[in-house]
Amino acid sequence: MPTQNFATLDDVQTKDKRVFLRVDINVPLDPSTHSILDDTRIRAISETLGRLEDAKVVLGSHQSRPGKDDFTSLEPHARALAEYCNQEVKFVDDVIGPQARQRIAKAEPGQILVLDNLRFCAEENIDDKPEKLLKTHFVKQLSPLFDLNVNDAFATAHRSQPSIVGLTDALPSVAGRLMEKELKAISTLLQEPHRPCVYVLGGAKVEDKIPVIDHILTRNKADKILLGGVPAKIFLKASGKKLSSRDEQEMATLGLHIETAKAIMKKFSEKIETPTDLAYEESGGQRTDRNIDAAQLKDSALDIGVRTLERYSAMIKSASTVVSNGPLGVFERSGFDLGTKAILESMTLCNGYTIIGGGHLVGLASILGIESNFSHVSTAGGAMLSLLSGQSLPGVDALIRAAERMKKTKDNSL
Ligand code: ADP
Ligand code: MG
Repeated sequence: MPTQNFATLDDVQTKDKRVFLRVDINVPLDPSTHSILDDTRIRAISETLGRLEDAKVVLGSHQSRPGKDDFTSLEPHARALAEYCNQEVKFVDDVIGPQARQRIAKAEPGQILVLDNLRFCAEENIDDKPEKLLKTHFVKQLSPLFDLNVNDAFATAHRSQPSIVGLTDALPSVAGRLMEKELKAISTLLQEPHRPCVYVLGGAKVEDKIPVIDHILTRNKADKILLGGVPAKIFLKASGKKLSSRDEQEMATLGLHIETAKAIMKKFSEKIETPTDLAYEESGGQRTDRNIDAAQLKDSALDIGVRTLERYSAMIKSASTVVSNGPLGVFERSGFDLGTKAILESMTLCNGYTIIGGGHLVGLASILGIESNFSHVSTAGGAMLSLLSGQSLPGVDALIRAAERMKKTKDNSL
C-alpha cells in the first residue's frame, strides 16, 4: 500500500501558510429544495480543518457534475461548515476568476475561504494525463497563490483532474487526515478479504461501478456481486432480459456499459446476482413489485423487489466480508427505500467485516443513525472500489510524486 510513500500534515509547518485544501463535500441534496440531506462528508474533514487552524485555508470541492439536477453552488455547504466549525467561514461565488484570486490573496489565518463548485470550471470536469493537467488555466491561475496543497478528497482520488492531480503536481503537497484514515482502513481489507466476500453495488454512477466489477472478479477479490440500482438494469439487459420501456430507453444510452457487462457475464456469470423482481410506481404513486419477466411496463424500476432483497439479505448475513456502494433503489422517494434499508440492516446483522461507501448510501445510513454499526464507513464510492479492486488512484499517485520531489529538493522550507 502506498500509505507510507506520501507526506502528511505531520511533515509540514502550516502557520500563516496559504493552503489550498481540496476536499470532497459533494453531498446528497433534496431533489426539490436542494437542501443538504446529509452532512457526513462535511463533518469528516473536521480533523484536517482543526490541524490547519493556523493557516490561511482556501477550501475547494465539487458538487455533482454538469447536467445533473444536484450540480449546484457550494454556498449551502459553506453555511453548513460555518455551523459546526469554530472558524470564520467565507464563501466566494467564483473559482479561478479575478474575484476569487483577489479574495484568496487576502485570506487570513484562522479563516476558511470556500470557493464555489470547482466543476463550474469546464477544465475540472476532464480526466487527463498529469502533464496536461499542469498546463490547465485552472492550475496556472491557482497554483501561484498557494504555499501548500493539502489533498483530503479521498472520494475523488480516482479522478485525474486539475484540482486533484494538477495542483498536487504544481505545489508542495501532502495528504489530509481523512485521506490518511481512509487509505489505512481500506488497505486492511485489501490485503486478503475474509471469505465469503460479497459486494453489493447499486446507485446511478455506473462508470464508477461497472468497469470495476471486472477488476474485482479478475483479481478474485469477491465471491458474489449483488446488483441493484442502475447497474442491475445494465446486467439484466446484458443477459437478454426485457425491461420497462423507460428503462429500455435509458439502456439505449449506456451501450458501452452493457458491452462491458456482457463480457463480465461470459467470464463470471456464476458470481453475478441480478434481481428477480423489481419495484415500480403505480399511477397513484404506490409501490408495486413485479417479476422481471412480467408483462410490459412503461415506467422505470425504482427499487429491487422484496423477493430479491430477501435473497440478497440472506447472502449478506452469512458473509464474512461485505462491501457496499450505491443505493439499491431511488431511496429519496417514499416506498422505494425498502431495498436499500434492508441491505443496510442485513449488513449490521452480519458478523463479518462490513464496509459501506458512497455519498448517497452513507448519507442514508447516517440519516438512519446506524453508521456506527459498520466496520468502516467510507466517504468514497468509486475511489473505494478502485482501491479495493487493486487499481492505483491518480490522486494518491500524485501525492507520492510530491513526496519524491520534497525528498529530492530537501525542501525544508515547509
Ligand atoms: P453513491 O453516492 O452511494 O455512490 P450514486 O451516486 O452512484 O451512489 O447513486 C445514487 C443515486 O442512484 C441516488 O440518487 C438514487 O436515487 C439513484 N438510483 C438508485 N437506484 C436507481 C434506479 N433503479 N434507477 C435510477 N436511479 C437510481
Ligand atoms: Mg453519489
